[in-house]
Amino acid sequence: MTVDLAIIGAGPTGIAATVLAAELGLDTLLVDEQDSPGGQIYRAVERAADRSPLGADYLAGRPLVAALRAGAARYRPATTVWHIDPDGALSLAADGGSETVEARRILLAAGAIERPVPIPGWTLPGVMTAGAAQILLKTADLVPEGRAVLAGQGPLLYLAALQLARAGAPPIAVLETTPRANYLAAARHVGGLWAGRSDLDRGLAMLAGLRRAGIALRRGVRGLRAVGRERLEGVAWDGGEIAADHLFLHDGVVPNTQISLALQLPHQWDEAQLCWRPVVDEWGRTGLAKIAVAGDCAGIAGAGAAALLGRLAALDAALLLGRIDERTRRRRARRLRNALVRERAIRPFLDALYRPAEAVLCPPDEVIACRCEEITAGQIRRAVRLGAQGPNQVKAFIRCGMGPCQGRICGPIASVVIARALGVPVGEIGAHRPRAPYKPITVGTLAGMAAEPSPNG
Ligand SMILES: Cc1cc2nc3c(=O)[nH]c(=O)nc-3n(C[C@H](O)[C@H](O)[C@H](O)COP(=O)(O)OP(=O)(O)OC[C@H]3O[C@@H](n4cnc5c(N)ncnc54)[C@H](O)[C@@H]3O)c2cc1C
Repeated sequence: MTVDLAIIGAGPTGIAATVLAAELGLDTLLVDEQDSPGGQIYRAVERAADRSPLGADYLAGRPLVAALRAGAARYRPATTVWHIDPDGALSLAADGGSETVEARRILLAAGAIERPVPIPGWTLPGVMTAGAAQILLKTADLVPEGRAVLAGQGPLLYLAALQLARAGAPPIAVLETTPRANYLAAARHVGGLWAGRSDLDRGLAMLAGLRRAGIALRRGVRGLRAVGRERLEGVAWDGGEIAADHLFLHDGVVPNTQISLALQLPHQWDEAQLCWRPVVDEWGRTGLAKIAVAGDCAGIAGAGAAALLGRLAALDAALLLGRIDERTRRRRARRLRNALVRERAIRPFLDALYRPAEAVLCPPDEVIACRCEEITAGQIRRAVRLGAQGPNQVKAFIRCGMGPCQGRICGPIASVVIARALGVPVGEIGAHRPRAPYKPITVGTLAGMAAEPSPNG
């Protein structure tokens, strides 16, 4: 199959881009590994009840998803992109088989992942991310049984706590780890709060909701630890401890760079958001002629900005494929860019307020950094002392990042631990270089790949 535009990721970015690209006459294919459209924020929104405990901001995804269903674009759920050729060939895995699709342009809209929170005990059964708890709620109405504690910082932490409370499973505590110095740093960005006041109002409403639900919010928590022998038994911090059956950790989200790194696109270390992100221009164009990147996988900006960035990338694809002219692109982009300024207004404030503590970025020696291979931060430091200069060398020395996640989880930790050990900026260290398959696929899937027709038919 050959299409004009292939889009990877059916979140706000990918859906908005798909709908607009199809409207502009592009033969568009949207691929996502989830069973239904919505991405992270609107995951499984089509199955939600009108009075869903997930709240109005979640249900706000319905019109976007409905527009996708009503549009002309092809949508392939439950399909994983496991390889992309810079020339435009995508390898897709679905239903135990694999196939190749040719695209004249590709838009990566693979979204964000939660930042790893490597505290002592974070690999114990009973410890998950807040996003994982939210996924269970969104996809299966599942809530934790027993005493749940949420710990970390950022809007998603409070949102998940509130959603669990509304679903009838209020956490027994929310432990907020925001370093005190962050409040001062955030105060320098209050100028953006007027333009971003609707986001601010939503944040304040969440905190008020937690209070109303009677959830204890403890601020200034340091030295967070998950405690237990075979599984989680409690959560401890400097000066306190609480018995718990579940601990849901969260410290913000970072771009999902798995595919953009594998494509060897230039990436930069974002000092404000403390993460790697691909270098893109204002339309999402990258160093590869056929490939654009937009939405949270190019830098965290939230769902509203993601949809706008998706539309900008769709306009650009339509220009490059000859469907619209330069004047039309500029005219249609103007309104999107104005809205983008408003969507981004609160970002510097949020980035400063919820800047992760150094201990989260660079854990002590005894803490596991690479979960797949059970490599500690201390082992990474020892590899550096033996001469490893970056994540790819550390991977070769001690297998850190060589497991099924291919550095998706440990990569951000390894970069910082290595940089600190060498005493150089993280940007100089470089990131992991994942390889295809981007996500594990079976040999059977590969074997099921449709054979290329030979030149003789
Ligand atoms: C776990 C989690 C939960 C979140 N929940 C909320 C929330 O409730 N409210 C909120 O305001 N923000 C939430 N966010 C932030 C949210 O991700 C963004 O604001 C917004 O969804 C970004 O939109 P996007 O389209 O760029 O990416 P996403 O919405 O993340 O969509 C990306 C899509 O790409 C797909 N994908 C990735 N790789 C592949 C591949 N190789 N093959 C096929 N498909 C692939 C994923 O399945 C996903 O559906 C959450 C983030 C995370 C990580």
